[in-house]
Amino acid sequence: MFYLDSCGLFRSTLLDIASVQHGFGTRHELPGWPPELSAQLDQIHSDRVVTARVKTGRIGEGDALITAVSGLWIAVRTADCLPILIADPVTRCVAAVHAGWRGSAGQIVAKAVGKLARTFGSNPANLCAAIGPGIAHCCYEVSAEVARQFAEWVPELADAEGKVMLDLSEVNRRQLLQAGVPQGSIDCSGECTFCRADEFYSFRREAEEAGRMVSGICIR
Ligand SMILES: [Zn+2]
Repeated sequence: MFYLDSCGLFRSTLLDIASVQHGFGTRHELPGWPPELSAQLDQIHSDRVVTARVKTGRIGEGDALITAVSGLWIAVRTADCLPILIADPVTRCVAAVHAGWRGSAGQIVAKAVGKLARTFGSNPANLCAAIGPGIAHCCYEVSAEVARQFAEWVPELADAEGKVMLDLSEVNRRQLLQAGVPQGSIDCSGECTFCRADEFYSFRREAEEAGRMVSGICIR
């Protein structure tokens, strides 16, 4: 379940675990957010996962970060794309994923899960994942050509024609399931960045005027 905490960050109860700190930012300025010392990426709508070790600031190009370094925040910036935060309380490592339609078509969230397993020995069965606010099914119209790329996870999209409403959060939830994350360990915010102009930036609504919301996670 997602909730707005007393600092003004959205959080998932699934990630409220002792070894982890996390938050999904909104369009409002919050004291202390984003965390000053965070590793981020030059985001390129790819399926590239980068391991953060010590450095902060922009540490490379890609769309997902993983780390096991205590105290090092990893963060992604979004405005309609989905921010996805993942934690492994057993091996103490985390991931932050930026998933738009291109990254989702490249299964970036599953690639982040795979890299947590290879790099830190994570078992996907131990992971908790929270899919944050993004443009939701109600507002996310895409071409049939784009929609058909998601037929593996949403079979009815195989026959898509014309304009289609895409549920990118559900696509990513199903990719997480396929990667071995248990159903009860996946939380979806369901908040729509396009509908909720009071809380969120939306690239589709505001175009170049849109700011970016920062979502991050850290091993304590
Ligand atoms: Zn909406």
